[in-house]
Amino acid sequence: MDVETFKCKIGGFDCTIFKDLMFKYQAKDYFINANENELDIALKSYNTNPENIPSPYIAMLLQKGGQKILIDSGIGFSEEPIVFKGKTFVLKGKLKQLLEKEDINTNDITDVVITHFHPDHIGGVFSSEGKLLFKNAKFHIHRDEWDFWHTSKSDSQPPLFKFFVEKNITPLKNGNLNFITQDYQQVCDGVISVNANGHTKGQIALIIGDGNEQLLYISDAFLHPLHMEKLDWQTNYDMDHKKAKQTRIKLLELADKESMRINAFHFDFPGLGFAERNGEKWKWVYEK
Ligand SMILES: [Zn+2]
Repeated sequence: MDVETFKCKIGGFDCTIFKDLMFKYQAKDYFINANENELDIALKSYNTNPENIPSPYIAMLLQKGGQKILIDSGIGFSEEPIVFKGKTFVLKGKLKQLLEKEDINTNDITDVVITHFHPDHIGGVFSSEGKLLFKNAKFHIHRDEWDFWHTSKSDSQPPLFKFFVEKNITPLKNGNLNFITQDYQQVCDGVISVNANGHTKGQIALIIGDGNEQLLYISDAFLHPLHMEKLDWQTNYDMDHKKAKQTRIKLLELADKESMRINAFHFDFPGLGFAERNGEKWKWVYEK
């Protein structure tokens, strides 16, 4: 059976990870500068077809006492196809439906943390009719990410990405926004943001948990386990390759130093595991 919901504990939190959608990526976009032979061997070791790299979109719910914190919001769901510049898009993200299955009312979400403004992370903030889905939540967003997408700096970004930001993020300016400005800033009780730029201008990773157990939510700093083994392999989806590599190393060293579990948004669902260190080399190990 297709597993769409995964539950575990992270420190004092009850954590639920939802599979919003499955998507397919291609090796030519994931590993743009990889040596062909090396890539061939590496993909075989992961039993992966270069034309079809399956990847989930996820969202994570953290519950403790009265806190209900949602990390990222999925791609969204629309009853009617969305027409954008003559192209038709059907959004069939399941997050809202999966939350309902768990008896979670979107009005009871107290906090929403958005790690960056790509469609698969922000698409579920507003309904396709333009209704805010988490109307009582405080939204935690990095200032640099907000500024990038709301100035001419983002003019060269794909129009569809800008459209998602305009629909799902820009209207929040009238509501309950909390801007993150510092590295290692406490976002809410049990959640600390870590600057993880490179993929986007203001991407954040998150340290989740407490003194007993911590997990590092790495968002899109790594899109595939091979990006841990090959820190130089660049993706088409990163805005700044040099910074993206620095961020990869920063997060791996942080997880290693603090012996943290890791959640990786785009790895095989639910994306939980560890980064195993061997000198300056790293390898992803899925949690059993
Ligand atoms: Zn993503």
